Amino acid sequence: MLLSYRFRIYPSKTIQAKLNEQLEICRWLYNRLLEEVNKARKEGRKINRQDTQALIVKLKEEKPELNKVYSKVLQMVNYQLWSNIKTLAELKRKGKKTGTLRYKTGNSFKTLNFNQSGFKIDFKRRKLVLSKVGEIPIKLHRKIEGKIKGVIIKRTKSEKWFALVQLEVVDETIPKTGRVIGIDMGVHHFATDSDGNRFENPKFLDKTIEKIRKIQKVLSRKQKGSKNREKARKRLAKLYEKLENQRNDFLHKLSRYYINNYDVVCIEDLDIKSLVENNRSHTLNRHILDASWSKFIQLLFYKAERANRRVVKVNPKNTSRICARCGKIIKIELKDRLFVCPYCSWEADRDYNASLNILNAGLGRPLAPVEREPLLRIVSYWEVITGQVLSMKQEAPCVS
Ligand SMILES: [Zn+2]
Repeated sequence: MLLSYRFRIYPSKTIQAKLNEQLEICRWLYNRLLEEVNKARKEGRKINRQDTQALIVKLKEEKPELNKVYSKVLQMVNYQLWSNIKTLAELKRKGKKTGTLRYKTGNSFKTLNFNQSGFKIDFKRRKLVLSKVGEIPIKLHRKIEGKIKGVIIKRTKSEKWFALVQLEVVDETIPKTGRVIGIDMGVHHFATDSDGNRFENPKFLDKTIEKIRKIQKVLSRKQKGSKNREKARKRLAKLYEKLENQRNDFLHKLSRYYINNYDVVCIEDLDIKSLVENNRSHTLNRHILDASWSKFIQLLFYKAERANRRVVKVNPKNTSRICARCGKIIKIELKDRLFVCPYCSWEADRDYNASLNILNAGLGRPLAPVEREPLLRIVSYWEVITGQVLSMKQEAPCVS
């Protein structure tokens, strides 16, 4: 199992210039190799990863600057290109609308990938040593346990530098709980689950989004290329990073809570959900919420794999319209917060009813063995990020 830890690094001005130059060289290489692939395809020639890999050596004559970059890093540029090609083909196969692979422009090439070799962490002196780069102070805010497989150097939009340290670790073992759960993710609340817990949408979103909007307005008024515009752009990038950090902290802790407390976690398949929901509003809030959902699911899968838990994706069709107790499908408006079944007189919070349907679908059982709705427990954002949620008391096992 591979883990990735992020550490802030503080390259000197000289080293920053070196890193930026190497990023630029890698960007050139990426585009050059992509050009080669496009050309081959146009001419109907087959071309694969080994072909472009071999080309790198030849290109060193055409562009001696390539020698300034550690050879393995150049190889990883080729690797990245082919992994992008593969992803695109995969999306096409699934019937998604895709364009062609784009050339990397301006600052869009942001990572140098030192895979297997070319790096060393000097723990005593707190320095990261990179081949053909030099020494960079690193803030080791957490212990590194396990074998280091690689280091990825990353430049963010606000021009901070990070080292993503790839670690090989053994799987963690946590005892089986005998519990299963269905989670409904919503617009009004982040998540409502079949044990009757409701997680509020993180409030920081509103505050930070408000700030982002303000700066965006300022930015649109500033003259292109002006110093002030550059300043505003950096501030905006910083805010986006802050938003992402806050959001990730929340999502990490919430997904940890579910993985620690349940053997099977059932959730909606968002790929399908976005297709089912027409009329989607493309507001900034909604955009960030969408991103949070997919990140949350990604984290659930990631943690589940390590802890030997199961995450089941279910088709979201009708999950909010089925009566979880008798199985009949009912017409329910988006504004209706209460689900009332005219057939069996089941009454429940709309999202709670949906979470039961998601659980039923995930477990492959027809109906939920429920009598009446429990009192929903509202869990605030603070309870999640301060870790209180991890010590929340659980109901008795409810295995079916
Ligand atoms: Zn019913």
